[in-house]
Amino acid sequence: MDYFSGHISTLIEQLSSLPGIGTKTAQRLAFHIISMPEDRVKKIADSMMTARSQVRYCRECCTLTDAELCPICGNRKRDHGTIMVVETPRDLSAYEKTGKYDGVYHVLHGAISPMLGIGPDDIRLKELMRRLSNEEIKEVIIATNSSLEGETTAMYISRLIKPTGIPVTRIASGVPVGGDLENIDEVTLLRALEGRTEL
Ligand code: ZN
Repeated sequence: MDYFSGHISTLIEQLSSLPGIGTKTAQRLAFHIISMPEDRVKKIADSMMTARSQVRYCRECCTLTDAELCPICGNRKRDHGTIMVVETPRDLSAYEKTGKYDGVYHVLHGAISPMLGIGPDDIRLKELMRRLSNEEIKEVIIATNSSLEGETTAMYISRLIKPTGIPVTRIASGVPVGGDLENIDEVTLLRALEGRTEL
């Protein structure tokens, strides 16, 4: 039995299809949205559309950005010889928040997961290897999550890079097992970066 109008039900259904939003939250958001002034709702909807259509992948590091190059890759003051490999743009922003890393990044947009059928070709690995062959790189820091997928990805990448002779390091296990980088405090992140070991 459906107690809501069809439009509200559709809105709830759409919202609950988003990650981390269950039916209850979706209902709360839906009722909040219909009680908001129309122009504010339009602003939210417009910003979603604009972000979706205008945001693209950085030509260098594959993070999400508005221009061809993201602000980090476009910054000549950054150390372009050190690349930190992360799974998502959220992980990148976690490390940026520490303010202590001055290298550049490479965003994989996922991790290898045989269980979920995600292979090396499904993440931005080819782009990373292309960077390594074109640029003068002195270190690749692998900062994937310490989940099974993150570790699998780290091992895979280190084996891939080994023949190039470029040193590959892995952030220390100050990051809890199974922990997502974005949820870890800055001190722990910094300790993990400083304590990185050669792979
Ligand atoms: Zn970039």
